[in-house]
Amino acid sequence: MKPILKIKDLKKIYHTKKSETLAVSDFSYDLKKNEFVSIVGPSGCGKSTILSILAGSLDASGGSIIKEESITFGYMLQEDCLFEFRTILDNCLLGLEINHALNEENKNYVISLLEKYGLKDFMHSYPKNLSGGMQQRVALIRTLALKPDILLLDEPFSALDYVTRLNVSKDVLQILRMEGKSAIMVTHNLEEALTMSDTIIVLSGRPSHIKNIYVLDFDKNLSAMEKKKTDLFLQYYNLIWKDIDGHV
Ligand code: ADP
Repeated sequence: MKPILKIKDLKKIYHTKKSETLAVSDFSYDLKKNEFVSIVGPSGCGKSTILSILAGSLDASGGSIIKEESITFGYMLQEDCLFEFRTILDNCLLGLEINHALNEENKNYVISLLEKYGLKDFMHSYPKNLSGGMQQRVALIRTLALKPDILLLDEPFSALDYVTRLNVSKDVLQILRMEGKSAIMVTHNLEEALTMSDTIIVLSGRPSHIKNIYVLDFDKNLSAMEKKKTDLFLQYYNLIWKDIDGHV
């Protein structure tokens, strides 16, 4: 299948007055439609840098990002704050407003997403009336409102407690699958990467290069909990941890 995104030899050097830091030395990957990829690696290796370059908020120092013009990105952050003074629906319409794309059709699409993903009764409530998990689902729908093809997720669940995190990661994955999106997620949570992804890219320490790529071979019908109980999960966990840490 033809990739929807080709990242080739991406490189990033941060310049300060006194020094320069080579954060990413070369990163290449071809992303397929509907693929969920996680990037893991030691802290400070350049994961967020890669995501920021893809999101367009940071310039690369080298390499190329090739995609058709019609392919767009959506970005979901760690603590994707909702505006307290706007209702859930109005929060979800914000991106459309900013992009001058708020019309009846797009508004109905957002309402249909809220209905589909269990937020219908909260559409006219304010964020403070929703749990952390629900707020994160709202943040995802706000991102989906602009109909991006590729979701960029930067540690999207790290502000949530353990149980909420398990539930929200399951919900988010289900929503992305049902809406036919591709995703690139940066996380330091290996369990999350293993239960959510089709592919895991392991980066080396800075300056980062790709150390390994794992195309995960879990039965597609397994839930996150069921995956965790398999021998394969433990095997991947140990292999990737070894890649990151240098030993098990
Ligand atoms: P990660 O997301 O893997 O933790 P980052 O992408 O945030 O890593 O950062 C990669 C490296 O680049 C880090 O070592 C960090 O110190 C450096 N870095 C990040 N932002 C800047 C900046 N604005 N100026 C200089 N160095 C930076």
